[in-house]
Amino acid sequence: HLSARLQTVADFVPTGARLADIGSDHAYLPVHLAKAGQLTHAIAGEVVKGPFENAEQEISLEGLTAVITARLADGLAAIKPEDQIDTVTIAGMGGTLIATILEQGKVHLNHHERLILQPNVGEDNVRRWLQANQYQIIAERILAEDGHIYEIIVADPVAQTVVYTDNELKFGPFLLTEKSPVLKAKWQRESQRLGQVIKTMQQAKHAPQTKIADFQAQQQLIQEVIL
Ligand code: SAM
Repeated sequence: HLSARLQTVADFVPTGARLADIGSDHAYLPVHLAKAGQLTHAIAGEVVKGPFENAEQEISLEGLTAVITARLADGLAAIKPEDQIDTVTIAGMGGTLIATILEQGKVHLNHHERLILQPNVGEDNVRRWLQANQYQIIAERILAEDGHIYEIIVADPVAQTVVYTDNELKFGPFLLTEKSPVLKAKWQRESQRLGQVIKTMQQAKHAPQTKIADFQAQQQLIQEVIL
């Protein structure tokens, strides 16, 4: 079975999807969905040879070579027009890398795809890319598993740009409305981290006052908006 993190990503893949899972590693996500009969077709994209071979092996072990194709490719270059992909998942990487993959590979998108993204950190980079490329966030999830807190962002293409506030970009438009205990725990942790950084800076011989003020402002924002 899948981790709670990947299961949450899987929950947003429509039944009968033509899926591209980018950075698939062992292809656990498409394999799980294909075994459940939920996919019409899938691409498991990997840029590194080892993980690509893991994906190939897993797909053939599960007897799913007719449904899932592993491709050694950088980011969205794994997608070919004839695949007629309608759903893209990118999970388990930093938000900056996810945004870079989307930006560098956007020629491979037909702008009809649902995007299901699971950044480990730097979620604001992902939301900023979505806003700049006419995607609307339709759902968000946050969950804790094995001591980590994960966010899942689901977006569909729209004709009109949806503009988010700075707070929505940082904390998530849906997560902000919901303000779950897990969201509070995440930002409590971040506030404590900032506090440590501030303390260390204040002890320095030439304390960097502007940086300290910036970190204090970040802490205060978290306090006001979330806690
Ligand atoms: N998606 C799986 C998950 O969430 O459990 C695997 C996550 S794993 C930590 C990240 C994978 O992304 C690695 O296997 C890495 O090789 C791959 N990756 C990183 N950059 C990539 C890129 N530009 N294109 C395709 N795959 C990439």
